[in-house]
Amino acid sequence: MFWTDPYDPPPGECVQCWAHAYDKSIHAQLAPDEDCADCLDHLDFDCPEEMIVY
Ligand SMILES: [Zn+2]
Ligand SMILES: [Zn+2]
Repeated sequence: MFWTDPYDPPPGECVQCWAHAYDKSIHAQLAPDEDCADCLDHLDFDCPEEMIVY
């Protein structure tokens, strides 16, 4: 089974990281050399518990 709906992440996944990974339009708004602050935040501090799907 494949989970490719950006807004329907499988259990155990972070809703934000999932959306950013599969909804290309989110990162398309960034400059080519610009980092995504939301993604960096989760990379540096881990995904908030409340954003993980159960
Ligand atoms: Zn992102
Ligand atoms: Zn995350």
